[in-house]
Amino acid sequence: MSIVTPSGGFDVVIVGSGIAGSIVAYQLGKAGKQVLIVEGGPPVPKSREEYLQTFFTSNAKTPESPYPPTIQGAVPATDDNPLGQPNPSSLNTPRYTVLQINAWQNRNISYFVYDAPQAGIAPDSPELTFAFGSSYERVAGGTTWHWLGTSLNNLPNDFQLKSRYGQGVDWPGGSQFFYRLLPYYRKATEVIGVSADKQAMVELYKTFNVEFSGEYGDNYGFPMPGIVESMNDVLYAQKVTTLKVDDIPLFVTPTPQGRNSRPGNRRQCAGNTNCIPICPIQAKYDGSVTLAQALQTGNVQILYKAVASNIRLNGNQVSGIDYITYDSQTGPSTGTGTVTAKRYVLAAHAIETPKLLLMSKNNPGWPNGVANSSGQVGRNLMDHVMYLAWGLAKDPIYAFRGPLSTAGIEAARDGAFRSQRAAYRIEIGNEGWNWATNDPNTTLSDFIFGQNNTQLNGDSLNQQSQPLRFDPTLPAFSKLFGTRLVNALNAIYVRQLRLGYLIEQLPDPDNRVQLSSLTDNLGLPRPAVTYRIRDDYVRNAFVSAKQVSTQIFNALGAKEYTQLPAAVQSSGDTVTPTTFEYKGDRFTFYGAGHIIGTYRMGTAPRDSVLNRRQQSWDHSNLYMVGSGVFPSTATANPTLTIAALALQAADNILHDLG
Ligand SMILES: Cc1cc2nc3c(=O)[nH]c(=O)nc-3n(C[C@H](O)[C@H](O)[C@H](O)COP(=O)(O)OP(=O)(O)OC[C@H]3O[C@@H](n4cnc5c(N)ncnc54)[C@H](O)[C@@H]3O)c2cc1C
Ligand code: SF4
Repeated sequence: MSIVTPSGGFDVVIVGSGIAGSIVAYQLGKAGKQVLIVEGGPPVPKSREEYLQTFFTSNAKTPESPYPPTIQGAVPATDDNPLGQPNPSSLNTPRYTVLQINAWQNRNISYFVYDAPQAGIAPDSPELTFAFGSSYERVAGGTTWHWLGTSLNNLPNDFQLKSRYGQGVDWPGGSQFFYRLLPYYRKATEVIGVSADKQAMVELYKTFNVEFSGEYGDNYGFPMPGIVESMNDVLYAQKVTTLKVDDIPLFVTPTPQGRNSRPGNRRQCAGNTNCIPICPIQAKYDGSVTLAQALQTGNVQILYKAVASNIRLNGNQVSGIDYITYDSQTGPSTGTGTVTAKRYVLAAHAIETPKLLLMSKNNPGWPNGVANSSGQVGRNLMDHVMYLAWGLAKDPIYAFRGPLSTAGIEAARDGAFRSQRAAYRIEIGNEGWNWATNDPNTTLSDFIFGQNNTQLNGDSLNQQSQPLRFDPTLPAFSKLFGTRLVNALNAIYVRQLRLGYLIEQLPDPDNRVQLSSLTDNLGLPRPAVTYRIRDDYVRNAFVSAKQVSTQIFNALGAKEYTQLPAAVQSSGDTVTPTTFEYKGDRFTFYGAGHIIGTYRMGTAPRDSVLNRRQQSWDHSNLYMVGSGVFPSTATANPTLTIAALALQAADNILHDLG
């Protein structure tokens, strides 16, 4: 691993090569600037087959399964570590994985370090702490390796939540921020190569009073036509129009997506529902696409397996970034170095970026870390907290075909109700009960071993008191084999429905990333995470989501199978990770993978880390990109906004460099 230092030195050093870092690198490289990326993870493999093989041989198929470091079978299995997950303290670039959520209190398994909930805390207490639901990758190209590809923009009112609805905070400039970002949103769809049905988007934006003109006007075309809708989408589209949420009529909109709907510079989507964790044919966009473009400019270089460990300051200017290198994941460090440039960009996502800022606390005069005079670094950690609902359609809709989601119900993303409860978008899943119950595996083992984990093979009733045994002519806990097994499975899988509500979350300064005293194999602190869902604003949206799901399944003539979570246990051996009680009901939330808010933009240095140019208030030659800059979550999946903001930041940096 070596770099060639250009004669005038580097113009910009970027930490992280995910979509955000790669976009900045590509824009700067195209403009002739000399850029160095410091990437903590390994390079993109010669063939993605390498990642696929790891995925195929994993027992548990999670978003992280294909990617290094290996998360299963790395150490011998034991009773309290049945999948043989490695101790994060033995890894050079550990990261949180979905598998660690249930083991969140076990510090030998979970990379995030959590305090135990207060003993005896009530299950409906706003002070109940949870496992954070979302994960990320530490490999070249970053977390979009296993993103779904949903590419929506925020709405104008998302930027003025406080002034419009009295909730959370505004983005700097309020709704003007949206209009300033529009040209970049448009460019972001081009970077990702978004496939979308323009007319459907025009209709959708009309309902939110967004003027479809200028950047989104008649001359605007998405790079690719929309992906074909699924049978699932068609069924919902036919049936939900009889329903309203808070007086807002429901309708289905095809989702803009970062995957090829026709052959282009990448292959056309083949529709086999494997987008999370990996698209085998790269029909789906991921950050490695833009990283390759950046490197091809000839002006961008990258150091792999180089973990940024400290930011140096000279006065109030960043003067260098220290890094530690390694060769193998569990091997010793192979060296250290410092890179310097005129400008610096942090793009290590919303857990590792604040961690790096907080770790950099040895600069004279900056004891709380770099860029942290406000004390806001690491605070306001957010996600889209998801409510999942699932059911069986009356007739086959042929689940497990197409990308994981091709449409959604967007009507409840904004409205007057937002002064009382959080907005949400409803994602329509095409992947049956894969997320909800880990199907096709769980139904298969239920009918082979005579179990009832899916509620299809026993005497369960759903929350509307309907009997759930799939075939009433079969005895409860049937053990099937041969043709009867195949027939039962075929009849079930093709009818599985799943809805996911992406509920917005408000910034809470006590939801935060701090430094743990526990370290990784390089001796760097692991993230200490505190996470609660305190606001009734957010909890009320769970109540609404549950009611709406039942109405939707009824309208479809489907039977609902959403399970009531087990009672919350807040002490003892098994501490419930993501369940709470509210208004006499019990809810489990799921992480959306949208890690937001830990180094936010704002209008004043006292309560934000960055100005609206994504430039540190404290250090004018330091920029940050990624969803950590978002002051609030809105309801759109974040990456189109991340991309738009990265494009805007690149323009700002180019302007500064002159
Ligand atoms: C399962 C899942 C599904 C998702 N689906 C969607 C979706 O459909 N739509 C959507 O909009 N979003 C989705 N997301 C979110 C999306 O993946 C992220 O928003 C996006 O990838 C973030 O990009 P980033 O460049 O900011 O960070 P990342 O892609 O995480 O990149 C950060 C980079 O920094 C590197 N790094 C970290 N620490 C260091 C260090 N100390 N030194 C050097 N390098 C470092 C990492 O190795 C990585 O390459 C999903 C996420 C998940 C988990
Ligand atoms: S459906 Fe298959 S081919 Fe299409 S994007 Fe997803 S994984 Fe790739």
